[in-house]
Amino acid sequence: MDYERVNSLPELHRPYTAAADRYEHFGYRRVGNSGLLLPPLSLGLWWNFGDNRPFDAQREVLRHAFDSGINHFDLANNYGPPAGSAEENFGRMMRKDFKGYRNELVISSKAGYDMWPGPFGSFGSRKYLISSAEASLQKLGVNYVDIFYSHRFDPKTPLEETIGALDTLVRQGKALYAGISSYSAERTAQAAQIARDLGTPLVIHQPSYNILNPWVEHGLLDTLRDEQMGAIAFTPLAQGLLTDKYLNTTEVQRQGGRRSLEAHLTEENLTKVRRLNEVAQSRGQSLAQMSIAWLLRDGAATSVLIGASSTAQLDENLGALQNLEFSSEELAQIAEIAQGDAGIDWWKASAIG
Ligand code: NAP
Repeated sequence: MDYERVNSLPELHRPYTAAADRYEHFGYRRVGNSGLLLPPLSLGLWWNFGDNRPFDAQREVLRHAFDSGINHFDLANNYGPPAGSAEENFGRMMRKDFKGYRNELVISSKAGYDMWPGPFGSFGSRKYLISSAEASLQKLGVNYVDIFYSHRFDPKTPLEETIGALDTLVRQGKALYAGISSYSAERTAQAAQIARDLGTPLVIHQPSYNILNPWVEHGLLDTLRDEQMGAIAFTPLAQGLLTDKYLNTTEVQRQGGRRSLEAHLTEENLTKVRRLNEVAQSRGQSLAQMSIAWLLRDGAATSVLIGASSTAQLDENLGALQNLEFSSEELAQIAEIAQGDAGIDWWKASAIG
């Protein structure tokens, strides 16, 4: 990232007016059978929006996303680093740039992973979820979030309590819709039933899902269809593995990537990535574009939740929407290359419950 360039961009220091044609780039997709519509690409703030990156660099990406039609920004209590700083930075952005656009934005947050010390700083108790949602609203500087998620299943708290807390937040008007993340197919069906009985249907599930990690295809997507819930796929690019980034990588360059990715830049995985890249090129797409298009094929995912550290990455990823069609030969080729466990289902443990 060229920080000097970003810091000297004059437009970032002028009041922001969103692009007039922002809703003309693509259609919005219905989440299950709810009234909520999401853009095909949504932007996550897990990385790149903490205190470790200049505010203006973040601002440039967020403005560009909204100008391009991406009106869904996904957060969680623990995004940063440090944990919580992404919500604080987004709150600043709300005050400076997006205040006049609140009604157009879909802002989500979550609680479930470690946030503060003590017995009520993690997992799925009513006390943790409600207090965390309250803290998130304050950081974000908004009266409500559009979606609030239980970030992971809690094996020790009754599911009725966790889902009951989501129901409470919706009834209090602090969240408009309720969702769950990384729940197994079985737990999803149970959670959906509990939520329905309470009168606050779960509308969306946020699972990890990409070409090298298609676990949701073994049950969860069927459950979501049965429950009439939407799916927003996170880590669609396997944190950058399914992009040009590591195609011609050397050991030294590998050290520069995300820490969680380093162990997975094996020769076996990189061979898969290079072969997938050949399929992408034969389709006239970059690997990132094909990986995103693959998730949106036939409505497999309602929306694809990408991360991006630059406007150039955003633009490339948006280019995926130019071709969402796959021939059966291409799908078979992709499945053949991707077969076997690439070891990148980092959230597997959460979905066991
Ligand atoms: P990802 O889209 O798989 O990876 C994003 C990273 O890939 C970017 O930060 C960038 O790396 C690289 N990248 C993106 N586009 C690129 C391009 N065109 N060319 C080259 N590199 C490119 O997604 P993710 O960041 O892992 O996750 C996305 C979002 O999902 C998160 O922000 C969060 O909202 C959500 N999420 C949810 C959970 C959950 O438990 N519910 C867990 C994880 C993530 P650099 O930053 O290194 O440039």
